[in-house]
Amino acid sequence: MTEQFSRLHDVFNTKHLFVITSHVNPDADAIGSEVALALYLKGKGKEVRIINQSITPDHLLFLTKLFPVHTYNSDLDLHILDADCFCVVDTNSPKRFSAMAETVAKSNAVKVCIDHHLEQESFADLYVIDTDVPAASELLYRIFTDDDPALITLPVATALYAGIMTDTGSFKFPKTDAETHLITAELLKRGVDPYAVYQEIYESGEINKLHLLGKALECIEVHYNGRVACMALPRSVFTETRTTEADVDNLTQYVLSIRNVVVGLVFIEQPDGVKVSLRSKGEIDINIIAKKFGGGGHRNASGARLKDITLADAVTALLTSIKEIV
Ligand code: 5GP
Ligand code: MN
Repeated sequence: MTEQFSRLHDVFNTKHLFVITSHVNPDADAIGSEVALALYLKGKGKEVRIINQSITPDHLLFLTKLFPVHTYNSDLDLHILDADCFCVVDTNSPKRFSAMAETVAKSNAVKVCIDHHLEQESFADLYVIDTDVPAASELLYRIFTDDDPALITLPVATALYAGIMTDTGSFKFPKTDAETHLITAELLKRGVDPYAVYQEIYESGEINKLHLLGKALECIEVHYNGRVACMALPRSVFTETRTTEADVDNLTQYVLSIRNVVVGLVFIEQPDGVKVSLRSKGEIDINIIAKKFGGGGHRNASGARLKDITLADAVTALLTSIKEIV
């Protein structure tokens, strides 16, 4: 990692115009990492723009008050083309920022990827990837401290904290370790208010979101002697509850909460197919299944988008594929 870090510092020190992006449907680790990196680079006197494929969900808008986040449209292409460094955080797959991937490929910018997911795809000039860290935000903390800890100001610390808190499932997922807690302690020492961040992310929802959750919980089914739990949401649940997919928050925790379940699947019907979130417990490698369907992620948490398939067929296809591993 030290070699990777010093190459990254070289790029950051020698380039001036930065564009930062992350994945479609960004979560708090995606936006927290982007905002933290943008503020850090700004602290080094750089010009920075964050451009995302998707809009920012309401519960993460507080992070965009620390640094603006733009939603991609082709008017922003010139910024991508002019950039001398393009940074991708919290994903290593250009498919996950596909709307601008073509422009990125045309740009002469040095492409940097800072991430914690498995199996990087080849598109960047420099990869700083650590699949052992629970959050991209934790990796950024290590990068920043390796350069100059003074650049971790309160806004940077707040953005990093949001990413680490959420990607560790509030410090309980398997990759959470002593180092994560030590880093979190450092962030708190810089003045991060954990309850304020918690309130923004988890206590700022609309009642419709709970109605959506109610319908989602009702449709959970178990298969294979109770070892696999599935939740499949048709578009109609969103219209009925006047919600959107942005209101879906960590539904996988509920399918995994059932005794003896070792694999949890959450399907969400899309206009052009189905998105599936895959989760597993312990040694079961769910990433293998996600990859079979063109997706990816981590051993215990992966995702995939299946094109041109009905919700029912997607459920059947995944259940069939999973049979051999459970
Ligand atoms: P989620 O199910 O929460 O959307 O994603 C779980 C994990 O899998 C995340 O770490 C995410 O980055 C990864 N992931 C989700 N969807 C995709 C996808 O379509 N392609 C790839 N390569 N990874 C995905
Ligand atoms: Mn992440």
